Amino acid sequence: MRSKFAELGGDGFFRHAVPAEWGGTGNRFTDLLEAHIRMGRRYRDPGLVLAVNAHLWGTLFPLLRHGGETQKRRWLSSLVRGERLSGHAITEAGGGSDPAAMTTRAERCGAGFRLHGEKRYVTNVPEADLVIVYGHLDEGISAFVLLKGDPGVDWRRDHRVAACRSAPMGEIVLENCRIPGDRLLGRPGTGLALIREALEWERAFIFAGIAGLMEWQLEQVIAFSRRRRSGDGHLGRHQAIAHRIADMCTRLDTVHLWLRECARLADAGRRLTLASAQTKLVASNAFLHSTLDAVQILGAQGLEATSGMSEWLNDAAAGRLFSGTDEVLKNLIAALLGTGAGYRASGK
Ligand SMILES: Cc1cc2nc3c(=O)[nH]c(=O)nc-3n(C[C@H](O)[C@H](O)[C@H](O)COP(=O)(O)OP(=O)(O)OC[C@H]3O[C@@H](n4cnc5c(N)ncnc54)[C@H](O)[C@@H]3O)c2cc1C
Repeated sequence: MRSKFAELGGDGFFRHAVPAEWGGTGNRFTDLLEAHIRMGRRYRDPGLVLAVNAHLWGTLFPLLRHGGETQKRRWLSSLVRGERLSGHAITEAGGGSDPAAMTTRAERCGAGFRLHGEKRYVTNVPEADLVIVYGHLDEGISAFVLLKGDPGVDWRRDHRVAACRSAPMGEIVLENCRIPGDRLLGRPGTGLALIREALEWERAFIFAGIAGLMEWQLEQVIAFSRRRRSGDGHLGRHQAIAHRIADMCTRLDTVHLWLRECARLADAGRRLTLASAQTKLVASNAFLHSTLDAVQILGAQGLEATSGMSEWLNDAAAGRLFSGTDEVLKNLIAALLGTGAGYRASGK
């Protein structure tokens, strides 16, 4: 992943929507969106899409928005250049949907902090150089910058999740982990607000790369349906096949519309809470259903390892879990409409 990040960083990929004073291009979220769509189309790798988004929304942008001058000077430019890898550690063995229930603890220890706990399914660990980790401090859940070599931190690779395989995934074990006082990100007790904000941005743009990949997927299916013979014509002449292709195209266009709406709101400085939840819900289901359709149309060829499509089935299932599950997003949307139970104001 490090070499891919260096390649993307060299092309200025992480500079979009970052102010020039921190090494960015100072351009719009609309430019960021288009760059992500192009990246998805070029690499066709959901693992890379996941890794890139964990880096951007899990660390780079939270640091940009909530970091102090010294913190920004220390880490931002190398993150923007893609020289350092990062992510965020929220989920624990007890569950990921309700971050308020996390058990990781932080206590003051002299001028610094001591952390105890375990985090799971952290994208980019163990390759990451730093992550934002969340734990309970006396004032409430708080965010801390954790570096790979910190004393009392163990970063372990976890191969158990069979999705988005090219992205590193790992666990973080914190045992009497001591970090200096300048690692607190934002004010004490603002961790849940930071988590909500990070996930809001991640939900808005994490499927941009996937949309690029889905463009290619649709083209493959159209080409196959024209090429493949069936009876006295080609496969696409069957209404059952043509309708699947029409559905795939409509889903993809809907995803593009939602992504552009998020970019438009972001460029206008508007809140993304509702739109980003709707975008992620629509896009993750579009990816899953279109991948099922693609495999069905391609027949057994769709399940050949070289087609890429069969692996995307697992990736698409994961897409309905990370960054807020379908159920959590629906709870949130319903709560924002003033109805629906179950969304905890303090939760995701
Ligand atoms: C590929 C991948 C990458 C990931 N990367 C990261 C990362 O970088 N950092 C990180 O911290 N985490 C990461 N995660 C973890 C991810 O955020 C969690 O999987 C997710 O939050 C769900 O948590 P859980 O898996 O513990 O399921 P649970 O929270 O245990 O939920 C289990 C099921 O119950 C449903 N459910 C839970 N609560 C409710 C409710 N209130 N109402 C209705 N239904 C509910 C859920 O929707 C789900 O279907 C990643 C996961 C995957 C698969």
